[in-house]
Amino acid sequence: METKQLGTTEQDLALAGELLRQGQLVAFPTETVYGLGADALNETAVAQIYAAKGRPSDNPLIVHVAEKADIAPLVQEIPEKAKKLFDRFFPGPLTVILPKSDKIGKVVSGGLDTVAVRMPENPVAHRLLQLAGVPVAAPSANTSGLPSPTRAKYVQEDMNGKIAAIVDGGDCAYGVESTVITLATPTPTLLRPGAVTKEMLEAEIGPIAVAPAVLEKMADGETAASPGMKYKHYAPKAQVTILRGDFAKYKEFIKQHTEPGVWALCFDGEGAQLGVPFIEYGKNHDGVTQAHHLFTALRDLDKHGAQVVYARCPEQDGVSMAVYNRLIRAAAFRVVEL
Ligand code: AMP
Ligand code: MG
Repeated sequence: METKQLGTTEQDLALAGELLRQGQLVAFPTETVYGLGADALNETAVAQIYAAKGRPSDNPLIVHVAEKADIAPLVQEIPEKAKKLFDRFFPGPLTVILPKSDKIGKVVSGGLDTVAVRMPENPVAHRLLQLAGVPVAAPSANTSGLPSPTRAKYVQEDMNGKIAAIVDGGDCAYGVESTVITLATPTPTLLRPGAVTKEMLEAEIGPIAVAPAVLEKMADGETAASPGMKYKHYAPKAQVTILRGDFAKYKEFIKQHTEPGVWALCFDGEGAQLGVPFIEYGKNHDGVTQAHHLFTALRDLDKHGAQVVYARCPEQDGVSMAVYNRLIRAAAFRVVEL
């Protein structure tokens, strides 16, 4: 299949919307990462998403809507806490899970009785959703297991020839996927950290739990609250290890590991002091800039042929929790205390 490369003109977005209505797959920019969209109410179309990504069929998709009013038909009801979250954070980089209505089929929900809903704030995504006129199921537009795409070029690398069109809307503002919270459990639970932080959510709806798999490896036999947490994720070809400790100790460690193929994944301004090739992925103590650069850094390490990567450790609160959550998966949970 020839994949159409589209821009963001009204004409291009109208065509992209038409393709979605016809049951085709279209990748599009959002403020988090690029999404791979299909008409959420067309199960045949949605099934193609899993095929194009190589995604396990039990890993459900997020349903994207243009307006808050589009949410009610997709869920059983909108409880008070959901309303608070929608009022405060929609449109924005937050996904809320609620018991699903019958409109949502088993392919979208990965067989669960819940649905994940999100209303993106990126103007291109918003206009496309309006023009499509249908809710759009969309996971990240990468091949399953690889880092999520934060630019159209990365979507092309993974999806050209497999989908109908790619809308190029430039770089994604946040660079990590949406925060996911479930309200389908007795205590609201954070399933995936993102740019809307735990602290911001708690300010609206009170205490929330954090699913153990967010910051730690799941125990064998443990059931994932969110199926996506159990799969290998964001993994570059290189073997990544996180080194937890201050920069002085990190530098000392690297000095003793300067073999060919070793790369440093460090913070801005640190690389030149290390004596090995390096990629800097944002400012120290600044989860927002780290989130913005992390996935590009992971893709670039592969392009350079890095074999062994030693990464500086992000913090675990605020937006840094999202960065830590992605990086420990990229590192297959290898963390060394310095
Ligand atoms: P992605 O679309 O690649 O950003 O992945 C969506 C994430 O949301 C995955 O980790 C899914 O497992 C999770 N997710 C989507 N729908 C649900 C749901 N109904 N219940 C729990 N997790 C969900
Ligand atoms: Mg994904």
